[in-house]
Amino acid sequence: MVKSAKRPILNPATEEIIAETVDAGPRDVDRAVAAAKKSFDSGVWSGKSPAERSTVILKWAGLIEADLAALAELESRNTGKPVKLARDGDIPFAVDNLRFFAAAARCPEGAGTGEYSAGYTSVIRREPVGVTALITPWNYPLMMAAWKLGPALAAGNTCVIKPSRLTPLTTMELGRLALEAGIPEGVLNVVTGAEETGRALTSHPDVRMISFTGDTETGRKIMVQASATVKRLTFELGGKAPFVVFADADLDAAVQGAVVASFVNCGQDCTAATRIYVEQSALKRFTAAFVKEAGKLRVGDPSKPGTDMGPLISAEQRARVEGFLQRAKGARVLLGGRRPKGLRQGFFFEPTIMAGAAQDSELVQSEIFGPVVCLLGFNDEAQALALANDVRYGLAGSVWTRDVQRALRMVNGLRFGTVWVNDHLPLASEMPHGGFKESGFGKDLSKYALEEYTVAKHVMFETTGAARKPWHYTVFGEPG
Ligand code: NAD
Repeated sequence: MVKSAKRPILNPATEEIIAETVDAGPRDVDRAVAAAKKSFDSGVWSGKSPAERSTVILKWAGLIEADLAALAELESRNTGKPVKLARDGDIPFAVDNLRFFAAAARCPEGAGTGEYSAGYTSVIRREPVGVTALITPWNYPLMMAAWKLGPALAAGNTCVIKPSRLTPLTTMELGRLALEAGIPEGVLNVVTGAEETGRALTSHPDVRMISFTGDTETGRKIMVQASATVKRLTFELGGKAPFVVFADADLDAAVQGAVVASFVNCGQDCTAATRIYVEQSALKRFTAAFVKEAGKLRVGDPSKPGTDMGPLISAEQRARVEGFLQRAKGARVLLGGRRPKGLRQGFFFEPTIMAGAAQDSELVQSEIFGPVVCLLGFNDEAQALALANDVRYGLAGSVWTRDVQRALRMVNGLRFGTVWVNDHLPLASEMPHGGFKESGFGKDLSKYALEEYTVAKHVMFETTGAARKPWHYTVFGEPG
């Protein structure tokens, strides 16, 4: 590294410094991009067959799995999430994601080779884009890295990944394990740092594609930074997921689902249930049960196996969450709303349920990214759909009902990239994840993600060998 500022990395549960990184400056970023470009141009990775790349990625996934306990512990210490969430949730899922991409890279899809113009055979090649810049947020550092590195590397690209300034530790470990698995030097590069580092990377002329997960506002800035050299973009941005409960739903299941979906990862989840709309006739019953069940969540030391909810990521993020509550005029606190007593160190905040917020208030419209959920009522299906869709985001949402026809009508009407029926949160490696509207474009996971990291090339073979008239090339096909 060249001249760079030192940055302490905190454990958000204890506020202790657990590591120190440096913020990569423009020259460091240049070096990382140059290494990625050199390795891409040399064909050391893109020139390997899909089977060869797949074998290496599978080995990498195996090394991550073998290191699961240590990685989960590190992820928990760096993010404050309960160790059980990292160990039993994010990291095993990330391993499965990598295995999926390793396998999927061996069966690319595209238009069939064929004769689409008389005298020609057309072939589609799916080629890697080149040097990719991968920018990740702090909520699921290892999993977000896998969601981007997996398809990028499986497709033959080379990468420079920049984790959040707050949570770089497991991404650095992923880099180390990648080398151990046999991913050649220069193919996967990690730079640490904050906005300045991200800006240098996303405006670098040799970067051909940016895959970004983070705040919608940051996405807007990156669009501008990328525009000078017309880079390909894929964006997973903010969310404000609705959770719509009809009176005919299994209310016990809906209450349990709401507790998990609202407070998983301390609400720092782009798909977290943030707006719970309940049919008026069931609202009272749902509210009582939801407040009771959410009140049982064990908030505290993330390293303890029984802990359900750890701290927020930083003092800044906690102050931001508190700001929303201080400005929330007219809304009532049904649960939480403050820092837990007895937890003096760490950026803890209680699970918080708000009632009576206006649909057009910032509590209902803006992404809070903390353990705060709004509970609201609705009268009929049409109103439920209108309220659920009435935000600028479109990442994910759920509907809870036993009526199949109603479920289908709601599924059709909800303007979100993922819609669950009678659940909220689960994802699958084989299925795409990505937003509508201001939640972004492009997909993570699935064969659709793999496509994001490739470009289609049309190759046309002339097959007759016959002499061509000079005007032949200006007309469609051969004139009579
Ligand atoms: P953020 O936008 O502040 O930061 C994300 C990343 O972008 C970080 O690595 C940061 O250093 C970098 N960055 C910041 N400014 C930059 C710039 N000008 N140029 C290049 N890089 C820059 O987001 P965050 O606070 O780390 O994460 C929370 C956000 O992420 C929430 O909005 C959440 O909804 C979103 N998120 C979305 C998804 C999804 O799948 N849609 C998943 C997880 C998180």
